[in-house]
Amino acid sequence: MNIFKLSLCFAIAFSAISFTACAQSKNTDPKTEKKMSYKVQKTEEEWKKELTPEQYAILRQKGTERPFTGEYNNFYKKGTYVCAACGTKLFESGTKFDGHCGWPSFDKAIPGTVEYHKDLSHGMIRTEILCANCGGHLGHVFDDGPTETGDRYCVNSISLKFVPEQQ
Ligand SMILES: [Zn+2]
Repeated sequence: MNIFKLSLCFAIAFSAISFTACAQSKNTDPKTEKKMSYKVQKTEEEWKKELTPEQYAILRQKGTERPFTGEYNNFYKKGTYVCAACGTKLFESGTKFDGHCGWPSFDKAIPGTVEYHKDLSHGMIRTEILCANCGGHLGHVFDDGPTETGDRYCVNSISLKFVPEQQ
């Protein structure tokens, strides 16, 4: 083995060690730890396989559907809205109202099912809402609601699935 080959060997061995060290430190990153706390744990690859491209863009990549285009924007049947990614019950139809904003609007969520994160993107201070069971992005909640709760949960139709009330 000549000197060149030997030093190449060292270089490969060294980069393998530093790569492993890097991967280990990533696992203790507080940001990823937060994600680890969701009951439903799936890799991005698994989510991509299970969700439609539209669902993936909103639920996993925090996208927003175009206003007035969503399936549940003007939809007032009796039942429950569940998370499109994991099926957790999130909103009851009785809390839905016409928010005139182009997205389904609710004045409250089923207690304990929604998680709240401060969102400073797009030059605004908003409160992002996520499914507490899988971490899927739902939309935002605003404090300008017209009902007695004062809250307006503005949710992407694509993040939801409607389950009609049993007759
Ligand atoms: Zn979910």
